[in-house]
Amino acid sequence: MSELRFDGKVAIVTGAGGGLGKAYASLLAARGAKLLVNDLGGNFQGQGQDVSYAEAAARDIRDAGGIAEANGDSVATSAGVEAIVQDALKRWGRVDILVNNAGIVSASGTLATVTDEEWEKDMAVSASGTFYLCRAVWEGMLERDFGRIVNISSGSWFGMGSAVPYPAAKGAVWAMTRALAAATNALGKNVKINAIMPIAGSRMTQLMGPEIHGLMERDFPARAVAPVVAMLAHESAPCNGEMFTAGGGGYTRVFAGVTQGYRATDKDWTPETALAQFDKVMDTSGFRIPEGSMDEAALYTSDVPWEAFKA
Ligand code: NAD
Repeated sequence: MSELRFDGKVAIVTGAGGGLGKAYASLLAARGAKLLVNDLGGNFQGQGQDVSYAEAAARDIRDAGGIAEANGDSVATSAGVEAIVQDALKRWGRVDILVNNAGIVSASGTLATVTDEEWEKDMAVSASGTFYLCRAVWEGMLERDFGRIVNISSGSWFGMGSAVPYPAAKGAVWAMTRALAAATNALGKNVKINAIMPIAGSRMTQLMGPEIHGLMERDFPARAVAPVVAMLAHESAPCNGEMFTAGGGGYTRVFAGVTQGYRATDKDWTPETALAQFDKVMDTSGFRIPEGSMDEAALYTSDVPWEAFKA
């Protein structure tokens, strides 16, 4: 297979001053992309701001022979995102690739103790930031009939101890990925939006304590996630609306499916029947993966012309 190259492509990677984002930006740049390295430069809880973090990463990429410029605006407001996208447009005229990587873990308490501010900060960076950036590059990508967006979700939405805001924000990223992919499919455009749930040692994994953090840094380096992001950012990306775990030098598909379930065939449709059929409903053999909500609705009945609602 020939090398996947990005020559001439313009890419924005958010939160790319260090950790995973820097690994993604470095790989794309090493293969020819022009990189806008965005990073607010705060700590992993979203406190502080320092543009020198993004500048140092951009300098490292240039020192390695790549093309990269730094940007220190925040993804957490639409004004900040407008400034990020305008920065790329002024320098290079378009955005071909967007990697929505910026993220924080603001809340550390349980549901009872988490504050409004912590909830809003986690949602603002991961969920709103991803939304604002997708919206800001959307029209240009549709007009040129080319775009690749890689959203960074997280395995936390499978459950992460007693934490709620961060998993909720990362779940929103996954749902947004599906919704945007359905939109480009409906429009027949070559704009593909996929997502990953990375696993890598980074300053964020310090939250897990020194032992796990040390093992993560040793066995799950950030550079081992980057090939999956690059593959999804490439023009030959083979999918739209998919999610993958990626870490330690491998990747797996993550999907939401529905089971065969149970359909009442007579008027005996009661809470007791629902309870009696529980095991059958939980049985995953013969599951299906709906392409969209209308596809999912069609599992119930084909009497309604669900297709008409797809566009
Ligand atoms: P990290 O803290 O090194 O990277 C996050 C980056 O985002 C930081 O450089 C930070 O300055 C930047 N950032 C934060 N708020 C920002 C804002 N408002 N605007 C612009 N930049 C901002 O941690 P990481 O592990 O490299 O995380 C990268 C992404 O991967 C995050 O979205 C994180 O939630 C996600 N993730 C990481 C893991 C893991 O195992 N490390 C697991 C699941 C998800």
